[in-house]
Amino acid sequence: MADLANPVNTLAVLKKYGFTAQKKYGQNFLIDANVLEKIISGAQITKDDCVLEIGPGIGTMTQYLAEAAGQVAAVEIDRHLLPVLADTLSPYDNVTVINEDILKVDITQIAGQYHEGRPIKVVANLPYYITTPVILKLLQCEAPIESIAVMVQKEVAQRMESGPGSKDYGSLSLAVQYYAEPEILTLVSASCFLPRPNVDSAVIRLKSCGKPPVHVQDDKFMFSLIRAAFNQRRKTLVNGLANAADLQVTKGEVSAALLKMGLPATVRGETLSLQEFAQLADLLRR
Ligand code: SAM
Repeated sequence: MADLANPVNTLAVLKKYGFTAQKKYGQNFLIDANVLEKIISGAQITKDDCVLEIGPGIGTMTQYLAEAAGQVAAVEIDRHLLPVLADTLSPYDNVTVINEDILKVDITQIAGQYHEGRPIKVVANLPYYITTPVILKLLQCEAPIESIAVMVQKEVAQRMESGPGSKDYGSLSLAVQYYAEPEILTLVSASCFLPRPNVDSAVIRLKSCGKPPVHVQDDKFMFSLIRAAFNQRRKTLVNGLANAADLQVTKGEVSAALLKMGLPATVRGETLSLQEFAQLADLLRR
C-alpha cells in the first residue's frame, strides 16, 4: 500500500475518489512522514495497545497506527470517506472504522469492545473546530484512557501547558492540568498538511495523572468558578464570581474567602493556581 504521507499518493487517492476536503469537518490531511513517526513514537504505541483514533480522514495516520498497535478503532464522522478508508486500510485486519461523531460516541464502550475494558490510548490529528470539546470529553468521560497524543493548533497546545500569569493561561489549562500531565512533543508547520491550514500546529501528549494533583470537595463547582473567573478576565475575581448567576456567591463571601487565603480583594483569576482555585472552591462551598 502506497504511503499516504507522500503528497503525491494523497493527491492520487483524493483524485481517484473525487474527494474534496471539507472545511466544515476541519479536513487537513497530514503529508509528512517525519511528523507521523514523531506522533507514533511520542504516543508510545506498542502491539499491546488499542488506539482510538479520532478522524482517520483518508487513513494516513491510521496506516501508521495499524502497523504499531494491536488494535485501532477509528471514529470518522464523514460517511463520504468510508469507501476511501475501505480501500486505503484494506491491508490491515486490526482496524475498525466507526462512522460516528466523536462527541456522541461512548468511549467506555469502545474500550470494552476493542480492548476488554483495559485502558486505551487516543491518537489524533484533531479537527480544529472541536478541539476543546473533544479534549474536555476525553478528560472528563471517565472512560479508561491511559494517554492522549493529539495534533492541535499551536496556540491551543500552549494554552494547555501554561500556568498562572501567562496570557495563554485559562480554563482549558486548568482542566487539562487537573486530569493530566501535558507535554508538547513537537511543533508542526502548516506546510505538513493538505490543504494547508492558516495556522501552525503542535503535537501534545496528555498523560493521565490517575489522581488529580489537588484535592477539592466538589470539582464541578471548582470548574464553574474557573469558567466564571476567565469569562470575565479583566474583572477582579470578586466581581467576576459575584456576577456569575449560577454560582450564587456574594462579593462579601468571595472577599472573605480571599482574605482567608491571604490574597488581596483586588486579585484577578488569571493569577490563581489550580491549588488556589481548589482552596477557594472549598471555602465558598461551605
Ligand atoms: N487523520 C487524518 C490525517 O491526519 O490526515 C485526518 C485529520 S483531519 C485534521 C480531521 C478528521 O476528523 C477529518 O477526517 C474529519 O472528517 C474528522 N472529523 C471532523 N469532525 C469529527 C467528529 N465530530 N467526529 C469524528 N471525526 C470528525
